[in-house]
Amino acid sequence: MEKILNYINGELIEPISKQYLENVDPSIGLAYNLCPDSDAGDVELAYEAAAAAFPVWSEMSTGERSKVMLRLAALIEINNDALALAESVDQGKPLWLAKNGEIPRAQSNIHFFATAIEHYASEAHPMGNHALNYTLRTPIGVVGCISPWNLPLYLFTWKIAPALAAGNCVVAKPSEITPMTAYLFSKLCIEAGLPKGVLNIVHGLGPKVGSAIVAHEKITAISFTGGTKTGADIARVAAPMFKKLSLELGGKNPNIIFADCDFEKTVKESVRASFTNQGEICLCGSRLYIERSIYAKFKEAYIAQVKGLKVGDPLLDDTKVGAIASKMHFEKILGYIELAKEEGGTILTGGVAVNPAGRCSNGYFIEPTVIEGLGHLCRTNQEEIFGPVVTIQPFDTEEEVLEMANSTAYGLACTVWTENLTKAHRVAAKMKSGIVWINCWLLRDLRTPFGGMKQSGVGREGGWEALRFFTEAKNVCVKL
Ligand code: NAD
Repeated sequence: MEKILNYINGELIEPISKQYLENVDPSIGLAYNLCPDSDAGDVELAYEAAAAAFPVWSEMSTGERSKVMLRLAALIEINNDALALAESVDQGKPLWLAKNGEIPRAQSNIHFFATAIEHYASEAHPMGNHALNYTLRTPIGVVGCISPWNLPLYLFTWKIAPALAAGNCVVAKPSEITPMTAYLFSKLCIEAGLPKGVLNIVHGLGPKVGSAIVAHEKITAISFTGGTKTGADIARVAAPMFKKLSLELGGKNPNIIFADCDFEKTVKESVRASFTNQGEICLCGSRLYIERSIYAKFKEAYIAQVKGLKVGDPLLDDTKVGAIASKMHFEKILGYIELAKEEGGTILTGGVAVNPAGRCSNGYFIEPTVIEGLGHLCRTNQEEIFGPVVTIQPFDTEEEVLEMANSTAYGLACTVWTENLTKAHRVAAKMKSGIVWINCWLLRDLRTPFGGMKQSGVGREGGWEALRFFTEAKNVCVKL
């Protein structure tokens, strides 16, 4: 089987231990290549390479850094289809989604920060004729970037791009469940002429490689995207070391549908918000609150469309719901469907695993599932399932829906459907979530702050927020 390699000091190398993990194609349920089972020794090599590269990379003009990154962005674009195929096979997502959404977004991430850094400026605070303050923003040094499996290259580059653009050197770890596109990306870094050691990618398990990055005393900032529990573990290790931390964590996002919404558009987009990428996007709307006067009509139209979603081979153009990323996650989701039944929920559609005919008959597929009849405080409605499972509930008043929508420990994203502008703004202001979409879902402008409240995270990514995170601000005060 093909071996994925670590990317350290500009070279593709084996892990020190020469140990590997099986990397599974979830659409067929079989290992198809090997992922390095690296450890703290490999992280140390990566750190040393990054530390050695830092003086040159951080001193380069922003224009020069930008140029290298733009070459990298161009290479992603040229290799879009190959990267998309690799992502689909590795993660289980439909190929068309990777081709048209995820890989182009990875390209945009690099392109966006490569150009943003050319416009990045810091502030001056003159004190009349007495003194002048100005802010110097300098790169931090060697930083750690750790990403999850649901949008592998998209989220990996979303961290790495601002870190590199700001002049840091990086030790990065993609998810061991989806290492393939990060490996292909490391080859593109070599082709683009990224100086050696500037970016280092160490593959392997979270508790071995991820925790070694977090615990490394000289890696002084960590940008992490993943589960809330892992985020808490990371914070526990990082806090006493006073590391800078950016944590993008789980979600349990409400989708609030008022009776005065644009009905057809709301149904269609709610289906998309529920089941895109098998519901494995931290921003998917998994709790639908529907105003009672349109509940029956909405339910009927929504279920009809959900039943029309084709589940199966991610490589086929008409597949709407691909494979669940791993066996463990597949079992977790099925466990939650059982829990929903135990809690008194009624399965309106789905609720079972699917065995597509042909090459994917042993893959991990679950029918898009809609559940009704549960209270908003039960576990099914409070815990993140992160799969093609949603619940629907009626509501009577704005006050009631706000209470239900805000009732979870999470606060990542929320969608509101109404044609009443005043109501839309009022609800947006009262939602405890980092993102509120009104009459849309997953419409993203890379300049906007991205992140969650409560247990959905600490800090914000995107635009200047990310560049601020990856720099240290220094106030210089000059007495005139
Ligand atoms: P996870 O927390 O299990 O793993 C994320 C990454 O952390 C992986 O690379 C993993 O190997 C690593 N890791 C695991 N244990 C670690 C440790 N002790 N120290 C350091 N690193 C460790 O998450 P996952 O299952 O890969 O991803 C799904 C989760 O990610 C969901 O909760 C989802 O909501 C969340 N997510 C959040 C966002 C966001 O922007 N807020 C985006 C995507 C996914």
